[in-house]
Amino acid sequence: MPVKLNSRDADFEAHFVDMLSAKREDSADVNEVVTGIIADVRGRGDTALSELTAKFDGMDLTADQLRFSKQEIAAETAKVSAEDRAALALAAERIRAYHARQMPEDMNWTDPDGATLGWRWSAVSAAGLYVPGGQAAYPSSVLMNAIPARVAGVERLVICVPTPNGIVNPLVLLAAQLAGVEEIYRIGGAQAIAAMAYGTDTIAPVDKITGPGNAYVAAAKRQVFGRVGIDMIAGPSEVLVIAEGDQNPDWLAWDLLAQAEHDADAQSILITTDEGLANAVAGAVDRILPTLPRAQIAGASWRDYGTIIVVRDLDEAARLSNRIAPEHLELCVDDPEGLAKKCRHAGAIFLGAYTPEAVGDYVSGPNHVLPTARSARFSSGLSVLDFLKRTTMARLTPGALAAIGPAAVRLAASEGLQAHGASVNARLATLNEREAG
Ligand code: NAD
Repeated sequence: MPVKLNSRDADFEAHFVDMLSAKREDSADVNEVVTGIIADVRGRGDTALSELTAKFDGMDLTADQLRFSKQEIAAETAKVSAEDRAALALAAERIRAYHARQMPEDMNWTDPDGATLGWRWSAVSAAGLYVPGGQAAYPSSVLMNAIPARVAGVERLVICVPTPNGIVNPLVLLAAQLAGVEEIYRIGGAQAIAAMAYGTDTIAPVDKITGPGNAYVAAAKRQVFGRVGIDMIAGPSEVLVIAEGDQNPDWLAWDLLAQAEHDADAQSILITTDEGLANAVAGAVDRILPTLPRAQIAGASWRDYGTIIVVRDLDEAARLSNRIAPEHLELCVDDPEGLAKKCRHAGAIFLGAYTPEAVGDYVSGPNHVLPTARSARFSSGLSVLDFLKRTTMARLTPGALAAIGPAAVRLAASEGLQAHGASVNARLATLNEREAG
């Protein structure tokens, strides 16, 4: 049964804190398994990849079968219907248009001392895009990873996607084609993250790994950080729906189940000011759940992590929402813009009853790779910026060095770094000689 809480109850705070810490993303057992897998891939490369793929994805692959061949990609993508192709193309175009606006500009100016300063953005050279595929195939995640990387100007893009028991979703390969990615490996989980971070004979290492995945993928990204960059921890999905009493309970039930069907570790939360709505939504979930093809997964998620909270008012809802820092936040209220102003910590906000979170998964334009497990407190959804680095620039004229160099010399002396001071002083001395001569 999902947890039902009422903020008026005396023990509410204790139950709320329990709920906040219940998610499985950072558990010691997952971390231990992942550490072993990463060490195995570092030590035995492609052999480990083949064995782990047999173990977790039920496929026997030799090293040269890890990568999809051009012929396979062509044969698979040819199977896609015209309708699916058109839907994917629409999604790709909307995602491209949204992300093109994120491209930041270089800056350059000369300050009053004569120093020309600024910064320049440049793309990482190689990015590894993780596309989940264990329990569901995610063509949309291909677009959400690859398009911002392309907009940023990344030269080499690599996709890793597991294909359990050899089942390939042709739309995943078509999405890669639309985004111009040809280097695609049929591997998943922590072993895919390790391969992209450390490289094997078959897979050259990348500089940055992005993309969502299950708890094993999220833990692996944490563990390879430093060797490579990562975007964020985008683990099992979450939605928080805040609703007032006049909302349609069936719509809200569908929204909660849309997250729950991702993963048994996903989490769906409803916060409402209306006890009647809380009961109606709980009833609608119970009625709809058994009809879903993925009822087992959605049912486990709803049973273990589903939560309904009745609050006094929307201000209280916003305060709780900020503590949850949800990946997805749906505001099904009369004044969603007003409430959104009070909700600071969320990966993505969906305003109003006609903006179901599912449109954000596919076609609205913003990225669906979003921070989970409360990491929206300090991080953001995937964007063009994740594929860029900022290099700072400075050029001093002799006059500028004469103006600010002496302060550097003093600070170097205070740190006991003689060569630092001397490198400035040597130039200042030459300038003084020239002036004197
Ligand atoms: P996945 O590709 O993330 O994971 C499948 C892999 O997990 C397998 O290939 C296997 O290697 C590994 N694995 C499974 N069980 C294991 C075990 N017991 N030990 C070691 N490794 C194991 O696919 P998935 O499982 O379908 O999960 C996708 C996840 O991505 C879901 O949780 C979904 O909610 C999430 N998601 C998140 C976002 C986001 O932006 N946060 C977006 C889309 C999807």
